[in-house]
Parts: sequence; structure tokens; C-alpha cells
Amino acid sequence: MNINYTSSDIQTICTGSFLQNTNQEAIHSIAYDTRKIHQGSTTLFACLKTATNNGHKYIEEGYKKRVRFFLVDENVATKKFPEATFIKVNSVLEALQIWAKHHRKKFNIPVIAITGSAGKTTVKEWMYHVLSEKFKINRSPKSFNSQLGVALSLFEISEDTELAIIEAGISKRSEMAKLEEIIQPNIGVLTSFGMAHRENFDSEEDHFKEKIVLFKNCEKLFIPNQLKDKLANPTSLIYTFDGGTIEENNINLIRKIAFDFGITKTAIDIKIQTLPKIALRMESLDGINNNLLLFDAYNWNLDGLEQALGYQLSLSNKKDRYLILSKSATVKLNTSSLKKVVAQYSLKEAKSTEKDLLIFGSNVEVDFNKLSDAILLFKGNQPELKRLASKMKARNHSTFVEINLPALKNNIGVWKSRVPKTCQLLAMVKAQSYGAELTKITEFLVQQGIGYLGVAFADEGVELRKSGVKLPIIVMNTDLSSWQDCFQYKLEPSVYSFDQMEALVTELIHEGIDQFPIHLKFDTGMHRLGFQSGDLERVIQYIKAQPEIKVQSVFSHLADADNLNDSSFTLLQLKSFQHISENVQKALPYPILRHVLNSEGLGNYPEYCFDMVRLGIGMFGISSNPEVEKTLENVIAWKSTISQIKDINIGESLGYGRSFIADKKTKIAIIPVGYADGFQRRLSNGKGGVYVNGKYHPTVGRVCMDMLMIDCAEDNLQVGDEVEIIGPNQNLKNLADICDTIPYEIMTGLSARMPRVFIEEID
Ligand SMILES: *Cc1c(COP(=O)(O)O)cnc(C)c1O
Repeated sequence: MNINYTSSDIQTICTGSFLQNTNQEAIHSIAYDTRKIHQGSTTLFACLKTATNNGHKYIEEGYKKRVRFFLVDENVATKKFPEATFIKVNSVLEALQIWAKHHRKKFNIPVIAITGSAGKTTVKEWMYHVLSEKFKINRSPKSFNSQLGVALSLFEISEDTELAIIEAGISKRSEMAKLEEIIQPNIGVLTSFGMAHRENFDSEEDHFKEKIVLFKNCEKLFIPNQLKDKLANPTSLIYTFDGGTIEENNINLIRKIAFDFGITKTAIDIKIQTLPKIALRMESLDGINNNLLLFDAYNWNLDGLEQALGYQLSLSNKKDRYLILSKSATVKLNTSSLKKVVAQYSLKEAKSTEKDLLIFGSNVEVDFNKLSDAILLFKGNQPELKRLASKMKARNHSTFVEINLPALKNNIGVWKSRVPKTCQLLAMVKAQSYGAELTKITEFLVQQGIGYLGVAFADEGVELRKSGVKLPIIVMNTDLSSWQDCFQYKLEPSVYSFDQMEALVTELIHEGIDQFPIHLKFDTGMHRLGFQSGDLERVIQYIKAQPEIKVQSVFSHLADADNLNDSSFTLLQLKSFQHISENVQKALPYPILRHVLNSEGLGNYPEYCFDMVRLGIGMFGISSNPEVEKTLENVIAWKSTISQIKDINIGESLGYGRSFIADKKTKIAIIPVGYADGFQRRLSNGKGGVYVNGKYHPTVGRVCMDMLMIDCAEDNLQVGDEVEIIGPNQNLKNLADICDTIPYEIMTGLSARMPRVFIEEID
């Protein structure tokens, strides 16, 4: 950011008042998180309020970091901060927006606004990649598309900006009109329009109308063909595109826009071949010697770099910091501006033995073998970077399961958009969340607005309670041995037979407990646990007679919801459930919840949501409904590293049973993953394989308990190279297919001995 305003300018623009005015120096940037402030004296700190925090609490901390300008909407004891200027406004967020709008107005340049259900960030980044051929562009960093993010993005526009690309996303009604006012775009791009992220809108039409408010003053609009008819009065010139996969459509769109901006077809073609892969997420891992490793594979540009450096600094707490880049990736950059950005974060070019890498650090010499307590930021995705990274990873991370929380969040959003507002989401977190991990995932799910949890056994519920989870928890299988846990830890048993119900009531009478919450399970065709529909009358009579229990919900489970060829059985089950649940509700004087859909049920029969749905595998990106699947993301990855490389001569054999004998001189790599980790033995001898540096390598010989071997005759792999067992090239579903099983079995088979690491969103 490189703005230039005085406090009087801001006071006038935002119609604020001075609580204290000490200083008329220039303000060059805006901060809203004191941890990210690095040039305090020319920064204005905006004291924003969120649901859980209040920026006014951090004034003192900001002041210590030499901040002398504060934008506030509460009263402040200014005497404690004699050198600071305080401008008070009605709302800090609104003031920032008004100011951003004013800033935007000063520049007579094309401003492109992008919105859409999915792919906004990808399109924005690709557009940037192609158009920067010709223009000096400012664009919103990462997916900075909220009300605040848009305002901050606009402040990035400066005298030498020739084109701005701003991403706009909304979560509530009427927000778009406001964004339109602030951005004042003259060109509009709608990437796609689907059901994801729709939770707060009544209908698709409604949502669409809301979205296109963004384009009301645009001279040009780029919009998918199929939506053209929905525009009420398409006065502006419209370019349409559609027809292919999401990626093809996006590329098509980029072509049209670039051509419209006067870039030649040949230049576009060349640029399209090098479109960056968009990875918006920062991954952090523990390193050896108490180092912390940050990975940002985000595409290469100085804005992205600055953000990553800011994040690193915010974590540093005076620890040494290093930035590690690949030399080959930086040759394209203007080195003097790179150095300028890096210098802002007090990093200097450092010497090391790593010849392919460009390193900046708190110290000018770095020996990676001895480095400790530092924070290493790896920016980029090149093999030479990954090599150093894997050397620096803590040993216990040589094989690990990676859980992508932003992807999980996306998936919850997708499922949420399929249920009516009155319907709750229950997350089934049995078997350690299907093998992923239990407590951290559950905590994250709670933040995403999950209202109920389900486990298979009481022990799992106890573990959740001990980790502090307060939500109601259903336990699917309970018996005599688990009643005490249910009482003590407030776990709600599923009740499925008369014997079991009587045993529970006996225990409740013994304990003197009344109104204990239970969930009635009916068997509507699965023929596993559950009362039969013929038991209905007797169940109702029993419950009415026993004040010890209170029915919290009635539910059933579908047997065939993923069968896309024949829905008849599922529909019978659903009808039967409708009948049973209505009768239970009628018989009881208090309201109960009704639920029958699991993930596949919600994917294929969303009209039967009732009051709650029970999500499991769908949260991890699996659905048999292709439309839904398209909008889901992979949550689980499974990675390891090569531990040894070996030459094998003609006639030599490999592994147990000598099932592989080389018929030519070859090379193999050994990976410390075996069937005890969940890599099934049936994948031996080329039935399965893994990816290294994006390339497939089949297994050779038999998979052992703790190791497997891959063929790498053709490739120059090295010890320490990262191995993808599950990931973007081979996802959970692909691996399950090769193993002739379902994703559930692969996931729950991921051994507990492998550590779980989490990808988290940095902002
Ligand atoms: C496991 C389970 C679910 C979730 O099933 P998915 O297919 O993973 O969505 C729902 N209901 C019950 C009773 C379950 O046991």
C-alpha cells in the first residue's frame, strides 16, 4: 500500500472528529492487526470490531509499535497516548469504505470487478497473469473479497496503476450494492453461478439479482452464456462464454478479456500456457530444531510476497526469520523491487551452501544444519525449495496426513447451501472423524456452525467432552456399559430396541434422573439397528409412560442413497420415515427433531431434509452427485518422503517373495509407508502407485508393513523428495477406486501412527 493522506484529509473525507490531533505527517498505509504492523509511524491503525474481538483493545500495542494515527468509533483515554492523533467516526468499517471510495474516485482507470460463486480468485489471478503483459495492474491480494477486504484492495491503487482488478464476494443481502458504490467498476466479470455459498438467500433468482447489482454501471460485462437471459435489460455490451469444464470456461473467459484489452492472440496463447496454479493457503509445519516452516505456494508476485512476509513477521515474536526463494523462479522479477520489499521486513540477502536458492534472513550467514528457533518462509513450489523444506521438516513428519481446513469449510458451505434455513447440520465424527482426526476437526466444525455431533460409541463422546466440546452429541451404539458415561458427560444415546430402552430406563430410575434426552432410531429398510415400523404404537405408549426419557429426535438411516440408477428403494425408506416420524411427533406434546439424510442422501434427495441432516463423508469432498462433487474440495492429503534410492541390476530381485525380478538395470526409491499405515498390500507390483514431483510412479515388488518401493528408472528423484499418496493427482476417491473399495475404508484405514497436520487460512 502506498497512499498519501494527512489526518485532516481523513477527518474531512470520513466526516469524523478529532479526539486528539497532534500530528500532520503523511499516512502511507492502513493496518487493522497490530501483529502485522511494520512501519508504525506512517501507518493508520483502524480499530475494527468483529464478532469476537475489538480493535480498540490494541491501541496501546499499536502505540508501542510507533503507530501515531488511530481511526476509532469509541471514546479513548487519549492522555495515555500523548503523541497520537485520534479520529472518531460513527463506524470504523464504514469510514474505511467511504475513504476507499474517495480514493478510488481519484483515478480515471479501468476497474474490473469480479464476482461469482466459484473461481473468482482463480480468474482474478489468471487475468492478472495475462493482462500484466501490457498493463501495470493492482489487484486484490489473495481472496480479499469481504466488505473490509474490498476497501483495503482499493487503497492499493496508486499513481502508476493502469488497471485494477477487484474481487467482490458477499455473504448477506444488500452487501453488493454497497460494494458497487465503493468499487465503481466500469467492467464486470461474473465467473460462474452455482449453488455454493448461497446459504443466506431465498432463491437462486434472488441471489443472481443481488450479484449483478455490482455491474449496474459497467460499460462491459463478461458473463456465462446460460445466464444471459436472466439479465433484465442487457444494455451494456456482453461477452459470453461457456460450454466446458470450469477450467476451460475460465480460460475461455480470460482469452476474451485479454483480447478485448488489445493483447494479441499469440501473446495470449503463450501466457495461457504458463497460468499459475492457484494455491491460496499457507501451510505451516514443525521443523527440526524447533524451527517453524511456512509454505506459500501462491503464485509469484510482490504483493503476494509482501503478504506472506507480513504473516511471517506476525508470528515471529523476535525469532530469526528467513525467506527462501528459488533462484530460477526469481530471475523474472525485478530484483531491486524484490529487495525493497524484503528490506521493509528487515531481511538481508544471506549466504548459504544452497546454490539454487536465494535466501534473505535476519542474519547474513545461514547454515541450515545448525539453524534453530527460526521461522522459515518457503515461497514457491519448485523442487529445489521442496528439497530443502523436506530436509528441514521434523522427522516425525516424514509421513503425514494433511487436513485442509479451508477446503473443509468450503464443503460445509456447499452442504449448508442445500438445506433450508430451518434445518440443522449434524456432523458425524465417529472413528476419529473417519480417520482424519477428532478434536481439532470438531472444534473447527463448531466454528462453521454445526449444531449437533454424532459418534458411534460413548468413549468417543467422552473424548470430545474432555476436549471442551459443548454441543449436543448423539451416541449411535450404547449398552449397559456406557449408560454411566452418557449420564456423566451428557451424551444422548440412540435408542433402537425395547430391551435397550428398558435397561436405560431402569438405570435412570435408579439414578433418579428425569427427562433424559434420547434419539429414537427406526429401521426403514437398512435392517441394522432400529425399531421396526410395526413397533411404532408400542414405542409411543412406552415413552408416554416414562417421564425418565425425553425424545430429542426420531431418525432413520438410508441404505442406497448413492444409487443414481434406481431411487425406488430410497424413496420407500423416505416415505416410511415420513409416516413414522409424523406419528411420533403427533403423539408427543413437545417438538422433536426429525432426520434421515446422510451425505449421499443430502446429495441426491435434498427435499427430505426434515429438521436435521447427518453429514459424514461429504464433508471430506465425496458425493455421487456430479453437480455437487464439482463444488466440493479435497480435504485429505497423505504425504511422505523418499528415504533411499537404489540401483537394481538385471536378474536381481526386490522385497518379500522376490515377486519382482529386474529384466534390465533399473532404479527404485524406497518410501517409509506400508500396509500398517493404510497403503493396502493389494497395491503391490504396479497395481497402485504414488506421485513424486507431479509424476506417477508405480509400486515395484510387494508392499511391506512399513515400506514400499517405487520404480524411478526414468527420473532423477532424490532422497527427501516429497511423495504424494493422496493429493491433487490422486485423490481419496481415485485411491479407493484402485483398491476396489470406498473412500470411507481408505480414510478410516489411515493409521493413527502418522501425524496429522493442518492447513489453515492465514487471514
Ligand atoms: C456414519 C453415519 C452417518 C454419516 O454417513 P455418511 O455417509 O458418511 O454421510 C449418518 N448417519 C448415521 C446413523 C451414521 O452412522
